[in-house]
Amino acid sequence: MLEILFILLPLAFYSGWRTAYKKKRSSQTVGAEVSPRFVQGINFLLNEEPDKALDVFLETPSLDAQAAETFLALGKMFRNRGEVNRALRLHQHLVARPDLTNAQRQTAMLALGEDFFAAGLLDRAESVFNELLKTYPKNTAACIPLRRIYEQLHEWEKALALTEYSVTDKTERIQLMAHYLCEQVEELLAKNQLFQVDEKLKKALNIYPQSARVQTLLAELALARGERAAALKYFRQALTYDQRLLNSLVKRLLTVFTQPVELQQLYEVVSTEYRRKPDSKMLPALASIAQAIGQGGSLSPIMHQHLQHELGNVQTLACVARYLTTEANSTHTLAELSLALGRLSSTLPPFQCAHCGYKLHEYVWRCPACHHWDSVQSQ
Ligand SMILES: [Zn+2]
Repeated sequence: MLEILFILLPLAFYSGWRTAYKKKRSSQTVGAEVSPRFVQGINFLLNEEPDKALDVFLETPSLDAQAAETFLALGKMFRNRGEVNRALRLHQHLVARPDLTNAQRQTAMLALGEDFFAAGLLDRAESVFNELLKTYPKNTAACIPLRRIYEQLHEWEKALALTEYSVTDKTERIQLMAHYLCEQVEELLAKNQLFQVDEKLKKALNIYPQSARVQTLLAELALARGERAAALKYFRQALTYDQRLLNSLVKRLLTVFTQPVELQQLYEVVSTEYRRKPDSKMLPALASIAQAIGQGGSLSPIMHQHLQHELGNVQTLACVARYLTTEANSTHTLAELSLALGRLSSTLPPFQCAHCGYKLHEYVWRCPACHHWDSVQSQ
């Protein structure tokens, strides 16, 4: 409750001063009654009786700009503290009041929608945000939370329509639209509705031709139609657009392409992609495919190259160690591996705070991130 004191007391004093000032200027001032009730509300807050405080605030006969702003700040604070019911009560009351300015009403509606969202009442939040957009079409602040709701509800078509007209950044817009179409495609693929899959993918391809996800789904559509060569072509295109996909795709690729000829083609595709743009993170997947076709030794030069010259990470070093243990000259490999591990470990912070997880290169008695004493330990 202490923070409420710090936030509201200056406002209360200001409000009191202003009311007195108004009273002096006009004997019929509307603010004359506000100040004592306001202070009474503050007292209830300070006594940890927020519901009584709310009752007092909500009975305020008329709101001036300052009081409305204060109520909005109070409602936001209730929500941030997890007291969503109180925030809802306050914002519902504000939205229903006739004496708010247009700007205050829009802020109150937005806050009310966020309260419903925080309370998990997504349909109520959706209707408030939609009402806000309908009443004030130029206020697009509701578009982002509304999109978040549609994403949570898997209402991809609505998310798509909203994105098309509300996201001004072109890159973000086409990425989001392609993802929403891809989400629909995955649902349709699961139901084997291939015609609709085809339609959606054409649309997605048109919106975002360089999307690796669209290419992966084109490959899945080709597989569903039994067109395996075309599927491999699309997978290859997906890797060209985003090499990082390889590690998540390799399991699927090795399940789908099981014939020796196909595996050989797959190996060609992945090793060509590696040569085009070498990235040590591809090594585990490349090694899996090489082993599947019985070409365990063919990657030795690449693996030695990695040990000698690249930093890599724990996963790639583990893969290389596994791969090279079968070699005849294992003493030489062990020496290379030892050097590579030394290089990698010198880059890793040896200490970590047990309280907040902050990593450090030097030992200190007090964590610089969370300020706990004696919480730093060796990793
Ligand atoms: Zn810490």
